[in-house]
Formats: sequence, C-alpha cells, structure tokens
Amino acid sequence: MLTLIDNALVHAPRPLGLQQVLVADGRIAAVATQIDLQGAAVRRLDAGGRWLLPGFVDLLTHPCGGGGEGGFGNRTAEVSLADFVRAGVTCPIGALGTDALGRSLEVLYASVMALRVRGLDAYMYSGSYRVPPVTLTGDVARDLVLIEPVIGVGEVAIADHRGTQPSPAELRRLASESRLGATIAGKRGAVLVHVGEGEQRLGPLRAALADSALPANSFIPTHCNRNQALLLEAFDLARHGATIDFTASTTPEFIAAGEVPALDALLQALEAGVDPACITLSSDAGGSLPLYRAGELCGLQQAGPGALLALLREALRRGVTDPEPVLAAMTSNPARALGLARKGCIAPGADADLLLFDPATGRLDDVMCRGQWLLRDNDLTVTPITVQS
Ligand code: ZN
Repeated sequence: MLTLIDNALVHAPRPLGLQQVLVADGRIAAVATQIDLQGAAVRRLDAGGRWLLPGFVDLLTHPCGGGGEGGFGNRTAEVSLADFVRAGVTCPIGALGTDALGRSLEVLYASVMALRVRGLDAYMYSGSYRVPPVTLTGDVARDLVLIEPVIGVGEVAIADHRGTQPSPAELRRLASESRLGATIAGKRGAVLVHVGEGEQRLGPLRAALADSALPANSFIPTHCNRNQALLLEAFDLARHGATIDFTASTTPEFIAAGEVPALDALLQALEAGVDPACITLSSDAGGSLPLYRAGELCGLQQAGPGALLALLREALRRGVTDPEPVLAAMTSNPARALGLARKGCIAPGADADLLLFDPATGRLDDVMCRGQWLLRDNDLTVTPITVQS
C-alpha cells in the first residue's frame, strides 16, 4: 500500500513549501505539489500544515550505554528504541566510547541489530576510545568490509586523560585502514574523533593530516563546542574541508565550565563564515557526561537522544529565521559525512525516514522509518518484543 502525506510544509532540509510526498516500498517515490496517483490505492495522511522533516541522523549515540566513570555503580543504561523514536532519531550511529572493557563491540552490534529488527535504521562504528582499536574481526578494515552495519571507526579519543594519547602516526594509520576497508565495501569510513578537555585540542588531528595523503574529511572531530578555544580551532579545520560536530547534550555544570551550547556554536560558525555543510550535531545519547575538576570526578549524568529535538525547539523559540542550517546539521550533513546516501533528505529515492513536526507547539507526534510508522498520533507502533514469560 502506498502512503500519501498531504498538506505538509516540506523541509528537505531545504524548504520546499507545501508539498505532497508519496511513500512506496520504504522509499520516497515522489515529492510534488500535486502527485498524479493514476487511480492507485493510497493511505492518505493530512499533515495539517505541519513541517515534514527527514528523520534525524545522529552520528554519535551509545545504544548499549557508554561510559560509567567512577565505578560500576555509575554504569550508564541502554537507550531504548522508544526514546530514539520519540526524539525523531531514525538513524542512530552507535559507538562504544570510553568503556571498551566492561562493554564490547559484540554487545554494541547486538544493540544495533535489535534496533533494526524493531524498525530503526541503526549503524555502528568499529573501535572505541583506545588505540590500537578494539575490533570484531581483528582489524578495522575487515570490520568495514565484513560487518554490514559498521560504517566507520570511533569514537577515538584525543586530548583526553581517558584515552591512549594516540600519536599522529597512529591516527593516520587508523584513518588509512578505515578508508581501505570502506573502499572495498563501498562505504565512507570516516573516523569519529572524541576531543577531550586537554590543551592539545585538535593538535594531534592537525599533525596527522599535515603529513599524509588523507583528505581532511577522513576525520570527524566531535565535542568541538567543549570550549571556545576548541571551537575556534574547529572552525579552522572546517575551512580545510573537515566536518565538525557539536554535542547537543549538556548540563548546567558543563556550561558553567565553559562549554558553548551547541546552538550557539552553530550560530557562531555561520557568523564566522564556516560552510554550513561542514557542521553536524549529535546527541551522545547513552553516553556519560562526567564532570571533572582538577582531574577528579565530581559528578556524572547520562545524555539522552532528545537533545537534537530540544535544540530545534530552542532555535525556534529564539526566533532563528532560517532553520535550514540547523536541520541540515541533524540530517543531510551527517548523512553525507558518513556516506549514507539515502538518509537525511526528502527526495525521490531516499529512504522514507520522516518526521511530522509542529513548529508552533514543538510537538513531534508522527515518526516514520523506511516507510513504517513507528509513532502515530503520539502512540508508539513499534514492533513488540516477541519473548513472553
Ligand atoms: Zn565522546
């Protein structure tokens, strides 16, 4: 059965005005002001003038939890499918992060596949904070070739006391291995780099790129809004062609410690003339948000997937007149940076990952992934768990 979404203000993420969108076999079949259905049977949905957005592509999530500094009692929880769906994240990319000791890539893979079976289109990175990287098959290139959901490597930590302080040569090697595997598999193979609080900031990345044949977009540094000095270095890297990622999850303590809120970071980047296509936003959902003072852990919270939707609402509340760069940073930009060609846009041939968002109320009541409604009228319609006691 075809689905026709009518009377929707389409942000593709480029604003297209009022359009009809036809969905067939999990893909977008047509986008036009008046689609000729030629008598075909369709299920119609009147969007009532709401915005129709691509589902969010969240390039840093921890579906099986991530981190848990300070002891096992602080271990963060898994992110539920319902939480991703209600947050509009139809394409979460999972990473291990800090904890590749109490967690494994096998567990992450299982979490990603569970999300897929129940309706989301999830992917994952090989590796973790540590170099040499943990892998599923013995090396990252093999992981990219042999494990379909693996689309890159990350998040590899630099400038962080919890990382392994990789040298520029080690970062180069990792990016080259990832590119090799990605080339064989027809993937993009970007290396997501966690940038910590260390004074080195992006120095190790710059050094890795300076003496190599690697293009700047081989790496995607994340948490670039951690402080103003890092943010300015990130703008410079973006001017050389890198994609830079801002973390939308935050805490009042992080802001007090100098973090630039992700929306402010994005607006600053645009003001500074950074190409909007080089900017992405991610939630870090499931990851720990540890607060350190003088090297001592003094607080820990867990990030959730709702940070992207919250940022969009905040942008509208603050009267941002052009939402396209904000939306692109959550949809088409991460999809392009990761090589997910059918994600993050509303166009014929793209996957039908769609959100119906009311800009007046900020409500997100309808979410579709690959043509299946996972949320309708604010009711979850996800595949139920079949195991029964
Ligand atoms: Zn991180």
